Amino acid sequence: MKRSFVRKFLSGLKKLLSKENNWTFLQPLVHSLDYCVKCQLCNDSCPAYIASGKQEIYRPTFRPEVLRRIINKHLKKESGILAKLTASNIELSFTLLARLAELAYRCTLCRRCAQVCPIGVDNALISREIRKLFSQEMSIAVKESTNRYGSAVEGGLQHRYHAKGTCEHRCLHGGRYRGEDG
Ligand code: SF4
Ligand code: SF4
Repeated sequence: MKRSFVRKFLSGLKKLLSKENNWTFLQPLVHSLDYCVKCQLCNDSCPAYIASGKQEIYRPTFRPEVLRRIINKHLKKESGILAKLTASNIELSFTLLARLAELAYRCTLCRRCAQVCPIGVDNALISREIRKLFSQEMSIAVKESTNRYGSAVEGGLQHRYHAKGTCEHRCLHGGRYRGEDG
């Protein structure tokens, strides 16, 4: 089961990085993965990082770095000196992927990090793409804790579409999340 989980993840990752399956977000995703210079200027703008007591794993750039290394090693098949230079020696395991999913859902998608990034890297988009992979390929999504009136709902956290510009949660689609109330 764990192996099939890893297989599904890799297959979903290939889709995320293919024009045929992800033409709308491929370019900003690749830009954000490839051009971060790791200056860490975005750290202090991140509410998740601050709320964690500035734990390393909640830095805005931590989850993109994990994803980047997985791509370099398991899709681009970097090895030898190149893998050392890009620090791509990362083993793909169920545990690693479970942690990556947790990190992606800790991100609030607020995009404060993107607003301060001098080169326009959008780590929220990366979190959202990781969530998309987990939800669409492995049916993993966290339960929504409240609806827009503050009461508990049982449904999964999903985009169900909606009128553009009515997003209370500032989702990247410019729409809004809808709970049970419609
Ligand atoms: S995302 Fe932008 S601000 Fe943050 S470390 Fe990368 S380049 Fe610097
Ligand atoms: S979008 Fe995510 S990583 Fe960026 S500042 Fe908000 S919580 Fe932090």
